[in-house]
Amino acid sequence: GRNARDILKNELREVLAKGTSSTPGLQSDPIATKPDFGSLEVYYQTVHRAEGGYPASGAEALVRWRHSQRGLLTPASFIPVAEEGGLIDALGFWVLREACRTACKWPEHTFVAVNVSPAQLRRPNFAEEVFAVLEESGLPPSRLELELTESSLIEDNSDVYSVLQSLRSQGIQISLDDFGTGFSCLSHLMRFDIDRIKIDRSFVSLLGTKANGAAIIGAIVALSRNLGISTTAEGVETEYQRDFLAALGCTDLQGYFFSKPVPLRELDCFREAESAAGLLTPISGAVA
Ligand code: C2E
Ligand code: MG
Ligand code: MG
Ligand code: MG
Repeated sequence: GRNARDILKNELREVLAKGTSSTPGLQSDPIATKPDFGSLEVYYQTVHRAEGGYPASGAEALVRWRHSQRGLLTPASFIPVAEEGGLIDALGFWVLREACRTACKWPEHTFVAVNVSPAQLRRPNFAEEVFAVLEESGLPPSRLELELTESSLIEDNSDVYSVLQSLRSQGIQISLDDFGTGFSCLSHLMRFDIDRIKIDRSFVSLLGTKANGAAIIGAIVALSRNLGISTTAEGVETEYQRDFLAALGCTDLQGYFFSKPVPLRELDCFREAESAAGLLTPISGAVA
């Protein structure tokens, strides 16, 4: 109800105000005068090339709220609250900063994808704010991918258009998330020069059933290829889906079959490169 949302909103406001410490576990501070509502954490889910043995090409940042009383909350339970409460900008920039700092330590050919809410994109200075985060973190713009939803682009807004132009002019990649679930008007969407389309998992889950999943995905992939747009299939859960999507010509694949979203400390696939680059401090005598 409304009251529960208001409580959550106020708690989130406090979490953001204290800087959303990314060190979980400090549940109670005896000196603190304010209650502790936990902290935000960024989880990462790898994205894999559909060719060459499915190497990880990058990872998507997915925010979590480690709430001291309610446990680990997924975005569905608090992103709408953040949007409604005017907190999405603060939350979004915190995630962006975390993701850029983290990806700096990954291999150079990898990207990090960050979700962007429609309200963030409506900020006239959004592009400049993103550039500032990139500069501060040292991540090359070409290694950042911003995931937008169709609803961000549907409002015929020339400001959004120029913000996107500005982001792309610096080499930031733009992808369209959950593709196919909105009221996509293709000609409208193509006006925005998208780098990647993420095919919603509702289509992927139809593969191997009698429904038209394969035909729809095939059409999206063919269209994208003709336009020079990459495609990522979301929600790949089975080997059958992986093979089918690779055969259809998707460029990248993402889903539980490869990995669930995991906290940074469990993201192993970029670790070898990190330690090779001398970025991990070896703990002598430590037993794993
Ligand atoms: P999304 O961007 O479409 O992210 C994919 C969602 O699908 C994630 O849910 C992920 O955990 C889930 N998923 C991935 N692979 C599979 C699979 O194989 N099977 C199934 N059943 N699910 C899979 P999550 O992490 O709960 O995030 C939900 C949504 O919240 C995201 O959807 C995104 O729209 C939003 N979100 C997450 N983090 C942020 C953020 O930092 N900012 C904003 N504005 N939105 C965010
Ligand atoms: Mg996404
Ligand atoms: Mg998605
Ligand atoms: Mg989706």
